[in-house]
Amino acid sequence: MSENLFTVIHNSIKKPEAVFIRRPDGTAITYDALCQATAQFANLLLQRGVKPGDRVAAQVEKSVEALFLYLATVRVGAAFLPLNSSYTGTELAYFLKDAEPRVFVTDPGAADAADQLCKEAGVAHLFTLAQDGTGSLMEATEGAPINFEDVPRKGDDLAAILYTSGTTGRSKGAMITHENLASNACALVESWRFSESDILLHALPIFHTHGLFVATNTALLAGASMIFLPAFDSDEVIRLLPQATTMMGVPTFYSRLLTQPEFDQALVQHMRLFVSGSAPLSAETHKAFQARTGHAILERYGMTETNMNTSNPYDGDRRAGTVGFPLPGVEIRLTDGETASVVPQGEIGMIEIRGPNVFKGYWRLPEKTAAELREDGFFISGDLGVIDKRGYLSIVGREKDLIISGGFNVYPAEVEAALEAIDGVSECAVIGAPHPDFGEGVTGVVVRDEGADLTESAIRAALKTELAAYKVPKRVFFVKSLPRNKMGKIEKKSLRETYKDAYGAT
Ligand code: AMP
Repeated sequence: MSENLFTVIHNSIKKPEAVFIRRPDGTAITYDALCQATAQFANLLLQRGVKPGDRVAAQVEKSVEALFLYLATVRVGAAFLPLNSSYTGTELAYFLKDAEPRVFVTDPGAADAADQLCKEAGVAHLFTLAQDGTGSLMEATEGAPINFEDVPRKGDDLAAILYTSGTTGRSKGAMITHENLASNACALVESWRFSESDILLHALPIFHTHGLFVATNTALLAGASMIFLPAFDSDEVIRLLPQATTMMGVPTFYSRLLTQPEFDQALVQHMRLFVSGSAPLSAETHKAFQARTGHAILERYGMTETNMNTSNPYDGDRRAGTVGFPLPGVEIRLTDGETASVVPQGEIGMIEIRGPNVFKGYWRLPEKTAAELREDGFFISGDLGVIDKRGYLSIVGREKDLIISGGFNVYPAEVEAALEAIDGVSECAVIGAPHPDFGEGVTGVVVRDEGADLTESAIRAALKTELAAYKVPKRVFFVKSLPRNKMGKIEKKSLRETYKDAYGAT
């Protein structure tokens, strides 16, 4: 039997007349219309010679049509390659040369530059797609047949390539299979109790695993509806929340909503679930959200290479500052960096993951794949974690963000949590900066609450009562905002560059 992800979704559709997408203007797209539109796109791709295993790349603004393109690519058995809309021409040139897609879809405004890049990279077909759904892609699908027989696929055939955000060196293409996506969507439907009566507020970008796979595939497999916003906008979210039952977001969505006085218990009383992931949700935000709305945000942990790994429980204690338990079918172990042996319970170790969710390897990088995937199938995530007595996993930071000061390991997450608990601290990040004496100096970067007059010495004094001396930031800098990427992750690499001379020029 074919394991094509779309066939799996198709077979699970019970009510073709049910609404899949609700646009903010009130117009709707049914599951039946979704099948027809993706069939038209798939017929076009087939007619342009897209074969199983080929790549179809897109760098476009978020639109329903971009979702159709993803699903149509899966239907023809090719691999979908979504690209962050903020990548520059130089970055795009790299991706096109590395992935060699047969088709590239770009925003109409970027068509001329893309044309040149496609010629250089040998891309056979270039189409345009604007956020409002217009462009040469839609014109080319007009009149195409509305039926399509999905190309049969095996579970470990490629469904997508997602380039990692590349915070260290060149970004790598994670090869994601049909089984990775189907198994993960199944695990999330079950764990988060998604059903056809759900209406998911979707305000995430769709070039990333969170918005494209976690949100969309879960909704599709459950037969749920999505309110599909072009981007996150607090006012729009507040306007549309009364129509939704669930929301998935990055932590900044929730902290921004909390700045709006009209975001209150009455507005979200009817909601079933708020999910957070892609970056750490601070315990402060978790608590403030619960105090304001009565809802405990459900935090989960995943990554491009592995899809979703762990989740706080649907029923039971959703513990602030933790990412919960392994999802059904997923195994987690924590290992020692040097010996690779499993660390005793309660100790910090490298998070390793095994299961049907774990990707197939990095595109055309067999050595990197071999370095990060162990022979027994565990993927070395690069995240450090600790598991408490009750089995809850907490992430203490990326291994590369670990600070070694005077020979002591300092885990940024611990210092950040202590900083955030100080009155007047709105947001913060903790990094290591070169230090002539200590090797690295623990360095805090803080955004103050409006009107707060916190000083560096007051913060250091407060932390001294909470943390061992070597963990207390040697310097604290104040900024208006922290640099974040589109998924809300703090760009620590850029902070390290900014503060590299904090303790004297290097
Ligand atoms: P990406 O591949 O862009 O999805 O980034 C994955 C990384 O985001 C993980 O390896 C973690 O470092 C981080 N991440 C994802 N979810 C969480 C979470 N709930 N808490 C802390 N970090 C997270």
